[in-house]
Amino acid sequence: MPGALRVVKLDPVGLATPDFCACCSAPAATSRAERLAARELVVPYCVRCLRHASAAGTRNLAAAVGSCLLAVTLALALPLAWPSAPFWAHFAVVVTGACLPLIPRAFRPRVEPGHTAAERAAWWVSEGELCCTNPRFAEALAAQSGGPVAEPTRRAKEPRFFAWLVAGPMVAAVGAPSGWMFHHPLVRVLNLTPGRITISIDGRKVAEIEPSSTENPTAGVELRLPTGDRLLSTVLADGEAVETRVTLRSGAAHLFAPNSADQCFWLEETGYGRQASRGTTVHALAGQGRFWVLPRKVDTWFAPNPPASGPDQRSSGGRLVALRQAPCARAPRGTAP
Ligand SMILES: [Zn+2]
Ligand SMILES: [Zn+2]
Repeated sequence: MPGALRVVKLDPVGLATPDFCACCSAPAATSRAERLAARELVVPYCVRCLRHASAAGTRNLAAAVGSCLLAVTLALALPLAWPSAPFWAHFAVVVTGACLPLIPRAFRPRVEPGHTAAERAAWWVSEGELCCTNPRFAEALAAQSGGPVAEPTRRAKEPRFFAWLVAGPMVAAVGAPSGWMFHHPLVRVLNLTPGRITISIDGRKVAEIEPSSTENPTAGVELRLPTGDRLLSTVLADGEAVETRVTLRSGAAHLFAPNSADQCFWLEETGYGRQASRGTTVHALAGQGRFWVLPRKVDTWFAPNPPASGPDQRSSGGRLVALRQAPCARAPRGTAP
């Protein structure tokens, strides 16, 4: 008979529990511990009822694992299936998807005939109060402990959502930005033409860029564009359109400088501290159509690395990479095409 909840005030700590099932009153063959903070009570069950009492934990675990798996899968795979999705659409779909496996936990399972509980038959409401679905079990427990039996308050409902059920949505909230950024790699676009240019990817306009003629750390714009084979279209100030087929790599940085044949780009790697003796090395960039996938992480864009001589010469140091730009006539030897 569902709905006949009773709350037993349990005091003192040590007490014997009745020897019949807390759900259906059949002889108890097994038991299950109910814990709340330091309180623990061994609740007797028959074999049949232990199955539904334990099912709550199994269902919560399945929902949490499913939610986490869906969060990780969506965060990493959605940008490949839906490359044009803006960040907030991607974020919303990943977090919503991670919540889906939790929805069945919002619905209470039906209490089967002959039982008083659909899942657990007894649970702690507070450290001194136990809620029971079977009034006969509550009376017997109260008789043994000497505590009163009371009608349940609103908070006596069986707790079904546990804190760790939010693990999946949290993984989604943290993983969604990383997945989107990884599959929308950085593309630094420079406008070295005399007038304003418009950049589109696969027919979708993404930026209008003002010209910048000399090497300048703030030149151009940084775009996050979807990974894979793409068609970059550049419309010049005079209306001429230049199309470039490119391949964007997940997690890499890219440089695009349309109509800039007289400008050269190269990487300068400078050693610091113990690596200062290796000095500065220059690497040419390989690419086609004025588009380059940068082989290294760039620390400084369009400016030299900081000087290698300084007070930190005794530190273990490291290496910094600068992406440099100059008219090809003034570029270091070996970097001009
Ligand atoms: Zn039972
Ligand atoms: Zn039962």
